[in-house]
Amino acid sequence: MRFNTKSIHVGQEPEEKTGAVVVPIFQTSTYAQPEVGQHKGHEYTRTSNPTRDAYQECIASLENAEEAYAFGSGMAAISTIMTLFKAGDHIISGDDVYGGTFRVFDKIFKDFGLDFTYVDTTDPKRVAEAVRPETKLVWLETPTNPMLKISDIRAIAAVCQDKDIFLGVDNTFMSPFNQRPLDLGADMVMHSTTKYIGGHSDVVGGVVCTNNKSVGEKLKFAQNAMGAVMGPFDAWLTLRGLKTLGLRMERHGQNAMAVAKFLVEHPAVEEVIYPGLPDHPGHELQKQQGHGFGGMVSIRLATDLAGAKKFCASTKLFFLAESLGGVESLLEHPAIMTHASVPEDVRAELGISDSFVRLSVGVEHIDDLISDLEQALGAIG
Ligand SMILES: *Cc1c(COP(=O)(O)O)cnc(C)c1O
Repeated sequence: MRFNTKSIHVGQEPEEKTGAVVVPIFQTSTYAQPEVGQHKGHEYTRTSNPTRDAYQECIASLENAEEAYAFGSGMAAISTIMTLFKAGDHIISGDDVYGGTFRVFDKIFKDFGLDFTYVDTTDPKRVAEAVRPETKLVWLETPTNPMLKISDIRAIAAVCQDKDIFLGVDNTFMSPFNQRPLDLGADMVMHSTTKYIGGHSDVVGGVVCTNNKSVGEKLKFAQNAMGAVMGPFDAWLTLRGLKTLGLRMERHGQNAMAVAKFLVEHPAVEEVIYPGLPDHPGHELQKQQGHGFGGMVSIRLATDLAGAKKFCASTKLFFLAESLGGVESLLEHPAIMTHASVPEDVRAELGISDSFVRLSVGVEHIDDLISDLEQALGAIG
């Protein structure tokens, strides 16, 4: 089966009793057992639930994974992965990973004795140089947020394989439609399913997919033991999101490309960062390792903080909001909003200036999106 067929069919046979074509929401915490010590496949919903199972099976197939485990949020997924390691283990992480990821590494797991080194993963040599005998995991985001820097998953996987280190990739920005890290040598792929996979800005969730048996076993144990599971209704909403993931990603990509091309030509825009533009430093690499460039576009406006704030308050279709990946277009100001907790000098180093704005380009009609941006750029003055 191809991607768009799998997203609609895998794990989603018509329901046995009634023939319902949509997987029901099994909104139950427990399951009646016919006899002591015997059950019909499920005992307790923290451990397993038919709606969650269907969703996990479907998303695993989209990442070309054997197994997937669903969690209550992206952060719950990452936190559960961290419990696979123990005090003294060393983890190499990208130096501009999602702010919440850095926060949980630095403010929580560091205190449990995990040791983190942060490197610029766009250069695989820097990853190799950071490896120590006790290194157990490399944690990677590509593209990064909000600078959209691209790292070479294959090259970093080669560094890890030589040394028995797991490679985990946060694939939230690309979705499995645009990039499948397990095919490129990663051991785990994680998503905040709150973003493109749910796709409608109505549900928070996370998932980890793997085809490494021992990692899978440990994740399954940790999912149940830690208990940060996704509930049945959220699994149902996210499974519904999956059905149109391919359609949406295609349109997100087309719209983002058109928006990027429009902005490149606009005099009020100083810089446009989109991996789909041929002059993006990661353009060729993304073409090789992925199947598209996604829906995120970052821009630097030719204005100051006041002008950038004016722009952000002037769009009508692009809502000013955190998050990304929904059908509706969003924009945000990283320096004040999503990346406010990043120290000012680090922000400056990364290029997150006062005139920097991140767009999540939705699936509305492209002409309406461009008109909206055009009138908001006009408002800067
Ligand atoms: C949003 C996000 C997360 C965190 O996911 P939540 O669902 O908000 O907990 C992790 N990584 C990336 C890249 C994200 O965009």
